[in-house]
Amino acid sequence: MRLVDGFVQPKAEDTEKYLRMGWWRNITLGDVLDKAAALHPDKEALVDDRCRLNYSQLKESVDRLAIGLSGLGLGDGDCVMVQLPNWGEYVLTLYALAKIGAPAVLLLPRHMQLEINHFCALTRAKAWIVPETYRKTDYRPVIEDVKKANPSLEHIITVRGGKNTPFVNFEGMIADTDLSSHELQALKERKPDARQIAFILPTGGTTGLPKAVPRTHNNAVCEAEYKAISRKQSADDVCLLCVPLEHNLGLASLDSTVFSYGKLVLLDSTLPEDFCAAVQRERVTRAPIVPTLLDRFVSFEELDKYDLGSLRALYVGGAKTPPDVIQATHKKLGRVYVTAFGMSEGVTCTTRLDDDEDTILNTVGRPCCPHDELIVVDADGRKLPSDREGELLAKGPGVFSGYLGAPEENRLAFTSDGYFLTGDLAMISDSGVIRITGRSKDIIIRGGENISPVEIESLLRQHPDVEDVAVIGMPDKELGERACAYIKPRENANPSLESLVRFIRSKGASVLQLPERIELIYEIPLTNIGKPDKKALRDDLKRRLAASNDDKK
Ligand code: AMP
Repeated sequence: MRLVDGFVQPKAEDTEKYLRMGWWRNITLGDVLDKAAALHPDKEALVDDRCRLNYSQLKESVDRLAIGLSGLGLGDGDCVMVQLPNWGEYVLTLYALAKIGAPAVLLLPRHMQLEINHFCALTRAKAWIVPETYRKTDYRPVIEDVKKANPSLEHIITVRGGKNTPFVNFEGMIADTDLSSHELQALKERKPDARQIAFILPTGGTTGLPKAVPRTHNNAVCEAEYKAISRKQSADDVCLLCVPLEHNLGLASLDSTVFSYGKLVLLDSTLPEDFCAAVQRERVTRAPIVPTLLDRFVSFEELDKYDLGSLRALYVGGAKTPPDVIQATHKKLGRVYVTAFGMSEGVTCTTRLDDDEDTILNTVGRPCCPHDELIVVDADGRKLPSDREGELLAKGPGVFSGYLGAPEENRLAFTSDGYFLTGDLAMISDSGVIRITGRSKDIIIRGGENISPVEIESLLRQHPDVEDVAVIGMPDKELGERACAYIKPRENANPSLESLVRFIRSKGASVLQLPERIELIYEIPLTNIGKPDKKALRDDLKRRLAASNDDKK
């Protein structure tokens, strides 16, 4: 068993306990797929814009790809970056990598040189699976830059790129693989230990770049199982995935659907008409989505034209859903709204369809995995009684054990007795129902996507016109929040939003690092410990927004 450098293993006593209690099943994601294929070979498993596979075909394609990837020399502990849209190839890739013990490093399609170089160096990735072009993005110059900066990157495998490519052809690897019993036996022998990393998720960082969250097979299968149980999923379920699969919301729904032998429908669009058409065509029963999309869907004028009667549940997470959007959902689609609270680190909670109105409108329900322990503590780390607000802490078989290669972050992220500090403020009722009341961590959630203000600040600080900067979330009706940068310009400088955005783009940053509003000020206010006083800035922004609304009236 080769462990990835910088991976923090769970404590031995926790591993022993979780395995003894059966909370960890000591199986891999590859085992989960093989079981589904053995029990339901002819059942539809995966549909996207190009393919329709039953479980037996899905397993065969995954095995072919896994053998092809091994043929490139990839295997035990070799990280492979995966940057794909919601195509069926995503599912094939995840399970093929899981079968050969190569951790999948999941990149957002929007990630550019800055983030990709960071993850590539951090994980010493040996390969990268990516389309050459996707919609308006041409990845080829990005590939060139990343290859130059990372000599460890040996293979670029391109998806849907055609045969005349200088890169390894993904489709060819599946088609040309020899699926002999000898190869299949060799593949079995490459199966990783369930304590190894299955995938690595990106999440907002506090040091200027995203952090990497490793999740082991044990940890991922545990989440898949308890998600399936808490959602009462069955083999008859059809799960539509239009949200990014690099986020826990989408990924855990994918794995839990395979865990319960359901069907996956991957949709590479978030347009309401495409969503509705897919629900109608595939008789979709469940879908994870973010609040911004839900709002867009229930406000869609042509909603009535589609037969959406198969929908049983929408798992809405990534950010808080405004109660009026929940009520509109109930009115238009029936009682299908479920809150999905979760994070890349594996802490997940959910309301249940039969919860009472207050629980559904105002809380995030209870943990999906009943063996995860969630508590609330005060500023001194003391556990608080019910209904008192404090920081939410979590520990258990569903929770990760540390960021990759980030000892300093990990020291701050965990208590001495192993609880993860979520950075969310919460209250827990007597009956264990959790209310999220705010955030102590410095992140902006834009349409369910986490943005790290520190990342934007460190980019803006490099601009010659910027002396100091603090980035905060600006309330936004459509997306929840957008990034607003308060800037103290250098003497005689007068930077514009456009020039700053151009500058950040030139650094190879992704759209997630672009501010959408700037305010020029004389001095960034500081707290009494000398940090930017973001609360004061938020109050100031509220006043400015209210004043500009008044002006418009
Ligand atoms: P990420 O790790 O990028 O998925 O972001 C996780 C963070 O998103 C959580 O720590 C919360 O701050 C926020 N979040 C996720 N789901 C919800 C929800 N249902 N309600 C409120 N905040 C949420």
